[in-house]
Amino acid sequence: MKIKQNYYIETYGCQMNVSDSELIISVLDNDDYEKVESIDNADIILFNTCSVREHAEQRVLGRVSNERHRKIQKPGLKIGILGCMAQRLGERLINEDLGIDFAIGVDQYHALPQILKEDCGAELNFDFNQVYEGIIPKHQGEHCAFITIMRGCNNFCSYCIVPHVRGRERSRPYSDIKKDIEDALKSNMLDITLLGQNVNSYLFEDKAFPTLLKQIEKDFPDIERLRFITSHPKDLSDELIEVMAESSMLCNHIHLPMQSGNNEVLSRMSRSYSFDDYMLIVNKLRKAVPDIALTTDLIAGFPGESEAQFKDTLQAMSDICFDYAFCFKYSPREGTEAASYENQVKEPERLRRLQEMIELQRKITLDKYKAMIGKEVEVYVEGFSKKSKKKVSGKSRDFKICVLTGSASDIGSIMRAKVIDATAGTLICE
Ligand code: SF4
Repeated sequence: MKIKQNYYIETYGCQMNVSDSELIISVLDNDDYEKVESIDNADIILFNTCSVREHAEQRVLGRVSNERHRKIQKPGLKIGILGCMAQRLGERLINEDLGIDFAIGVDQYHALPQILKEDCGAELNFDFNQVYEGIIPKHQGEHCAFITIMRGCNNFCSYCIVPHVRGRERSRPYSDIKKDIEDALKSNMLDITLLGQNVNSYLFEDKAFPTLLKQIEKDFPDIERLRFITSHPKDLSDELIEVMAESSMLCNHIHLPMQSGNNEVLSRMSRSYSFDDYMLIVNKLRKAVPDIALTTDLIAGFPGESEAQFKDTLQAMSDICFDYAFCFKYSPREGTEAASYENQVKEPERLRRLQEMIELQRKITLDKYKAMIGKEVEVYVEGFSKKSKKKVSGKSRDFKICVLTGSASDIGSIMRAKVIDATAGTLICE
């Protein structure tokens, strides 16, 4: 019997990266490699990285520097960088004597076993048709499955590194998505999220996103919860809103990045919609799905953002009342258009605006969550609560974290519960 080499994988960044790691695990496990949970037992250490913010890249470099001492105790140990950071900095990372042996870009994961065997330093070529056809990721979650339906992005928002490191949009064939969902359901994962940088522009042969959703609903009546992320407002069609209104499987939640509430800033971000366009979609969504929860992404301190323009975003937040907002301070990314804009907002000011944004959203979220006291929610129990083994936690259909009294036997089940209290991030239920 052939002895397999042990590898350990650490993942950074968004859910797309988590999903890519599941793909990498599938590729390696089907070859001469075996995943281990402890870095101490690894012959190969893989870091699947993110480049969206500078901080994420710095963290990975810190991790590599912490782990390279292992090469002294274990000659032959290899450290590899995968994903967006490899794509962006690959050759540089290998040449700088950081302890990194190889760098593999986002379109080369299928070749990973070969690359490891041949000791290639870097494989970074883009393949704009790469959808990893026929490779079904090995889902690592226990209850929720994240299924990639498309890769890449064509939008080139001026601040975003993604199209530069992940290439253009391409969609996965339905036959593969179907196998992926079948696998997830066999493992009793009842909550399925369809993933892509911009799922609304899914297009395979003549199947667009709303058709894909209808097909999934028809083929898999056993899915309890179906979700999708991320949606670009400019591509959110009336047809999709109609599908959301009619479906009993799709959850009443949408993540719709707004980024800014000011038209000039949105235009310099190259977002292709105005604040009025965004509001129009919000109103349509709320009319079609009255109890829909709305979450968003926001950027504080985009280059040239004046105090008044920043206040427009705060006003928009108060007007729309998002259930939750992922707030970030602008992080300049080399190679993007916005990084070369002249009027960069100074770091302390970006931070101040970010804090103001977070504080406002915290109040809005708390009010929204408190307004749910007395209501019933359906909770898919995913595990024990972090604070107590006498409590379990999970998510409601509208993507809120719920904590309730329960035991190990409740994990994996769907329970109805009444909201009795709330914090700015959790519904306390019974
Ligand atoms: S839509 Fe814009 S922000 Fe989203 S991945 Fe594409 S370029 Fe980046």
